[in-house]
Amino acid sequence: MKLLTHPTPIGSRFEAYGPSKLDEILRRFPVPEELAETIRLFSLVLPFRVNEYVLSELIDWTRVPEDPIFQLVFPQDGMLSKADEHALAKVATGPGRRAELPAVVKRIRQSLNPHPSGQLELNVPSLDGENLRGLQHKYRQTVLYFPQQGQTCHTYCTYCFRWAQFVGDQDLRFAVKEADELVRYLHAHPEVTDVLVTGGDPMVMSAERLRVHLEPLLAVDTVRTIRIGTKSVAYWPQRFVTDADADDTLRLYQQVVDSGRTLAVMAHYSHARELSTDIAQQAIQRILSTGARMYCQSPLIAHVNDDADALAELWAGEFTAGAVPYYLFVARDTGPHDYFKVPLSRAYELFAAAYRQLPGLARTIRGPVMSATPGKVIVDGTAEIGGESLLQLRFLQGREPALTGRPFFARHDRDAAWLDELDLLPGTPPDILGAVRSQLETKEDR
Ligand code: SF4
Repeated sequence: MKLLTHPTPIGSRFEAYGPSKLDEILRRFPVPEELAETIRLFSLVLPFRVNEYVLSELIDWTRVPEDPIFQLVFPQDGMLSKADEHALAKVATGPGRRAELPAVVKRIRQSLNPHPSGQLELNVPSLDGENLRGLQHKYRQTVLYFPQQGQTCHTYCTYCFRWAQFVGDQDLRFAVKEADELVRYLHAHPEVTDVLVTGGDPMVMSAERLRVHLEPLLAVDTVRTIRIGTKSVAYWPQRFVTDADADDTLRLYQQVVDSGRTLAVMAHYSHARELSTDIAQQAIQRILSTGARMYCQSPLIAHVNDDADALAELWAGEFTAGAVPYYLFVARDTGPHDYFKVPLSRAYELFAAAYRQLPGLARTIRGPVMSATPGKVIVDGTAEIGGESLLQLRFLQGREPALTGRPFFARHDRDAAWLDELDLLPGTPPDILGAVRSQLETKEDR
């Protein structure tokens, strides 16, 4: 497949705007002063990063604060409790109290469940008695790989489940500089056919740096699919169109495809707005022109995309662009989770209402799905059995392969928002019961 010719450059060089640029941003895009104060204050605790494209092209400033992309990127009133907000305000602005700020910030961050997964410890594989940091091996065929230089993003999502690493917490210690250990592990584990390169966002790396991580995988015959988890196509599509190394990046993609492997760009889109610009469409077409495939996924997030029409528009837009609508995830319990969470029952209703609007070929979307400790669990619907209202669930993927594909039932609790909040029916098979209880014990992966 030939690369497309480079179109007229649009946009500019990538530059990340962090909290130190907030005043400048809010001068250019004024919001009510009370909201500006909240943003300044909360960004002391929650990670904040944005770029020019998101500011100028994606956010509809006439609809602030309800605008979904504004909600996606800027800290909002309600993301911290009133008690924490007051404590923060006291030390951030109170006379002579500034020295207390770091301790207050740290306390609030700790209270926001900064390490929801624990999965980085739980799924770390070992080789020759040595733990291999920067890798996770949870499902038999798939290894996750965290390159050290890909542990940030072009813009931060306020709902990010890995937010702690963006505010200086230590998940980064799990990432690795080079692929040597991964390659050794893959040779020792021929059952692994898929490698998911993830982060942060690996597409923040230059083409040259990405090559250092991808090329060694092409020497491992048993690896048949390389997936790249990224939100760059939504947050900085210039990465594939006008960045200085956009063409080199696409040549690297093509090299992977030419090796006979499947290259899957696992694109994170939260809202149809992210597909609406010309450059967003060009980026998708350029990626697809290399022979790579695109699969799209997103969590279901209150204030951003908890609307059946918005979800249907997103999935239809992905399909029309030539990508595959893939997963609608349930948000994990971290950061401002109370602000963003959508209970499972409501999540299913939204999913079903959006799904019904899709043409048959776009019904590749699956959800709502919890990526939980024992595996991926989908809410398949509700049922009335013996006069009782039930939630119908199923393991899409099990850490224990025997769980995969197995259905089970829980009492229909309209407030339950995660697996460990469900009351499973008597008679649930012991291995399923045990797997779900393991979630309760570890609180992992939420
Ligand atoms: S793109 Fe993913 S890793 Fe990056 S901030 Fe958003 S949710 Fe987090």
